[in-house]
Amino acid sequence: MKEKIHPKYVAAQVSCVCGSVFITRSTIGNIKLEICSECHPFFTGRQKMIDTAGRIDRFNQRSQRSKDIRASKQTS
Ligand SMILES: [Zn+2]
Repeated sequence: MKEKIHPKYVAAQVSCVCGSVFITRSTIGNIKLEICSECHPFFTGRQKMIDTAGRIDRFNQRSQRSKDIRASKQTS
């Protein structure tokens, strides 16, 4: 390898919010994840809603509100 151009490639502990931890190597040290292969629906095969900061709730509220508005327009 050419000298002085390669970053340090060190052992890194990768930890996910689901509790899964594994060891790999990286140039940036330890890594924290919000989703990993242990908990992602693609790998688990389970359909699970991953709600980031209540986005699904907010979408449902918005669609309910627009339904209400439409309903009130039809009655008047
Ligand atoms: Zn995970």
